[in-house]
Amino acid sequence: MPEYRSKEQKRTFYKSSAWEKLRLMALERDHYECQQCKREGKVHVDSIKVEGQKKSVELNVHHIREIENHPELALEIENLETLCLGCHNKQHPEKGFGKDKQPIIWDDERW
Ligand SMILES: [Zn+2]
Ligand SMILES: [Zn+2]
Repeated sequence: MPEYRSKEQKRTFYKSSAWEKLRLMALERDHYECQQCKREGKVHVDSIKVEGQKKSVELNVHHIREIENHPELALEIENLETLCLGCHNKQHPEKGFGKDKQPIIWDDERW
């Protein structure tokens, strides 16, 4: 069982082709929509998608159970959900993102 505890381990994981594939599958499954906004009944219109591009930088594929504690679920699509930037930040309050006024740019390395 691989471990994803260190930054390097996570970075390697988020750069792997297995993750890239699964991530796209999760986005497709969720129709490129934020699942949390959907649950709250909000219509989240993704500006970039509207402009006709398939992939959006505003959406993140989130691990419902963090890979750090659940490495066996790292590549389980059932453990993934598509979240917009705002909702994703709320999922990780312990990491302190979003506390300052700087816009937060998420990338795959920040899961
Ligand atoms: Zn959202
Ligand atoms: Zn996340």
